[in-house]
Amino acid sequence: MDMLEALQHGAAANRRLVQEGPGKAVTYAEALARAGGVASVLRRYRVGPGDRVAVQAEKSLDMLWLYLGCLRAGAVFLPLNPAYTPAETGYFLADAEVALFVTDPEQLAGAGGFPAVTLAALAADAATAETDFDDHPATAQTLAAILYTSGTTGRSKGVMLSRGNLASNAETLAKVWAFTGDDVLLHILPVFHTHGLFVATNTVLAAGASMIFLPAFTPDGVFDNLPRASVMMGVPTHYTRLLQDSRLTANAVGHMRLFVSGSAPLSAATHRDWAERTGTAILERYGMTETNMNTSNPYDGERRAGTVGFPLPQVELRITDPETGTPLPQGDIGLIEIRGPNVFQGYWRAPDKTAADFRPDGFFMTGDMGSIDANGYLAILGRNKDLVITGGLNVYPAEVESVIDDIPGVAASAVIGVPHPDFGEAVVAVIVGAPGANLDENAVRAALRGRLAAFKIPKRVIVTSDLPRNAMGKVQKNVLRQDHAALFADTANEA
Ligand code: AMP
Repeated sequence: MDMLEALQHGAAANRRLVQEGPGKAVTYAEALARAGGVASVLRRYRVGPGDRVAVQAEKSLDMLWLYLGCLRAGAVFLPLNPAYTPAETGYFLADAEVALFVTDPEQLAGAGGFPAVTLAALAADAATAETDFDDHPATAQTLAAILYTSGTTGRSKGVMLSRGNLASNAETLAKVWAFTGDDVLLHILPVFHTHGLFVATNTVLAAGASMIFLPAFTPDGVFDNLPRASVMMGVPTHYTRLLQDSRLTANAVGHMRLFVSGSAPLSAATHRDWAERTGTAILERYGMTETNMNTSNPYDGERRAGTVGFPLPQVELRITDPETGTPLPQGDIGLIEIRGPNVFQGYWRAPDKTAADFRPDGFFMTGDMGSIDANGYLAILGRNKDLVITGGLNVYPAEVESVIDDIPGVAASAVIGVPHPDFGEAVVAVIVGAPGANLDENAVRAALRGRLAAFKIPKRVIVTSDLPRNAMGKVQKNVLRQDHAALFADTANEA
């Protein structure tokens, strides 16, 4: 069922979408009307079907109304992480050639000549605008959203997701995770990313369920609201943080139906600690911006630590030799490839990049390496792209390296992810100075501030005399990762 149809169903059934909590309760009917008001206002800004509407703002319900308003208007919703610097944001706005940039007042100046409005002003207009809106006639192929994901070779790529992509995944997740209209999801994730925007919100919509919508994750927010919730979705960092809190007890979570984790590997230790402490097993699933969700541990049945479970219904998954694409026998480690209605439409205005990531038979090469055990559980073993995932956010080393290399006195750099007890992985840079240069860790980090979003700035910068390289001159990151694996080992209790 299309997400707008789901919204209409909820409205017809007089259901509540947002529970009272940090703000007032919102019904499905009110959300539908809000989205109608937004769609009317978008028309005033001359946003037509297929036009991109970028939003970069702190998390709020108005962002959800903008998402749903874009669906009604047939516009393409394009959320951006508020942590991006003006230069980074400017790149996305230009690349997507946005028809409207919706943002917080401080960021208005960064619109770079594109029409811009604050989210508050747009929401105020929408509240008094005509809410009866003639929805754009969409099909499963209609573009719904573009989400930017960083590219391994520096530049970010816009992932084009269709209405059908979103609908099929939401319906599947609602079914396999046994959602009903009575569920109340504790929404703690950002809504500029697929996890909080689509996995969380769309699954709620598909089930006619409701949510408690928190502005951000905090342990206080979680423990204050948990008693009224039935499901929570989080990234591994959330679960490790909650485990550090004495309020996490079997009693406190006994009424909860489900805890879901994803976006980064949940360590087997966290999985076990959580189960021991609470008596419930976290359900880990695996997906990515390009494919929505691919696999999930079972709702009924063993949730196996260190695995991401089985392919979802309608999702075809195979493990191949990354070079040749030949499917490998069960148990072998190889590239995870995916085909199904969940897989995106391609990278925005980058047909070559799109073509390079698909096999001729339509399977998408995820870039993740994995293997399937004798019982069919998939384990993710690493990424053949060198993605670092820190606190659930992706950092591509190539991008950070290129900024570091611009600092005077830097001859070479390599950015790696190092295990970190709180963030899962921490970004670490190993750098080599030019002859005579006197590089210092704090100066390098200071030079990166303002040039990179804070989450991409290395937590540690290690100055060395040479980088290990293979015969082809490529830096051996596996060696660096090994050398620095214990860098944060004794910060476990500091966080
Ligand atoms: P994103 O596009 O930001 O959602 O990031 C997608 C990437 O996150 C995937 O390609 C995986 O490398 C990683 N990922 C997501 N979920 C998991 C998981 N449960 N375990 C390990 N890696 C994961």
